[in-house]
Amino acid sequence: MSSPLTQPLLCLFLALLFVAGTSSPARAPDELERVGGGGGENQREFDYFALALQWPGTYCQRTRKCCSSNGCCRGSNSPATIFTIHGLWPDYNDGTWPSCCTKSSFDPKEISTLNDALEKYWPSLSCSKPSSCNGGKGSFWGHEWEKHGTCSYPVFGNEYDYFLTTLNLYFKYNVTSVLNDAGYVPSNTEKYPLGGIISAIENAFHASPQIICSKDSVQELRLCFSKDFKPRDCAIASDAKIDMVTSKSSCPKYVSLPEFASTGHDGLQSWASNNSAL
Ligand code: 5GP
Ligand code: 5GP
Repeated sequence: MSSPLTQPLLCLFLALLFVAGTSSPARAPDELERVGGGGGENQREFDYFALALQWPGTYCQRTRKCCSSNGCCRGSNSPATIFTIHGLWPDYNDGTWPSCCTKSSFDPKEISTLNDALEKYWPSLSCSKPSSCNGGKGSFWGHEWEKHGTCSYPVFGNEYDYFLTTLNLYFKYNVTSVLNDAGYVPSNTEKYPLGGIISAIENAFHASPQIICSKDSVQELRLCFSKDFKPRDCAIASDAKIDMVTSKSSCPKYVSLPEFASTGHDGLQSWASNNSAL
């Protein structure tokens, strides 16, 4: 719903986006001050967190080449039948989000004690090296910390707390087991009602998730939390649930949770078996 007040603001926002030449799909106006501003003292505090999870059975279908950092390529050690973590994202209630809030660079040493758990539950499912906020190329974890984690102040002030709390949230709100218990198991033949998947999550956590599809396959599922980590709806509009199962969703009414395929792409199986250290 737009008020007379929001329209001029919207125009200003769009103009700022244009002038800044940003490629981000939805940035907050004050982010434009923050990016490169290095400090974040002018930043507007975020409103809530989205825990973004990815489904390897869908995500790994796009794998065209393998490398040591790609969790899709680990054969029987791949995260085949669980949702894995994409990131914990600070969001604004209006659907926009801040990004790259400080100039702090990712330091892998700060989270080295979490490495085993992160490799297992927060693997990169791609060989591509994401860009860091400072212009270079880095790891998936570094990208998530710099792009999203640095905007989680004052809830998190350092990498370790950000990654540890994300892991704990992921364990506490176990989407994979909720869906399995409701009969939504990985399958290359079954289609499940999107509304049923949403209801299973709502019944378990008393909040509505956001689901992202690639064609008719579930690719991401996002759970949302208040700043004190109580589950809350991802969308604030009262008709959000209706929107999600109809036109505004990236998902059709019936969706699949594809099984993870460890073969089928040239070289994947042989790469994995030649790299037994993984
Ligand atoms: P996509 O365009 O693939 O949906 O998203 C690309 C990237 O934009 C995501 O990986 C994430 O970094 C950011 N992004 C997309 N949607 C959201 C959102 O709802 N909240 C936040 N904080 N970031 C998002
Ligand atoms: P986001 O979409 O989160 O802003 O950016 C993700 C970046 O990390 C992209 O450049 C993507 O190619 C890279 N990336 C590396 N591993 C993964 C992964 O497992 N999932 C996603 N969504 N992106 C990944």
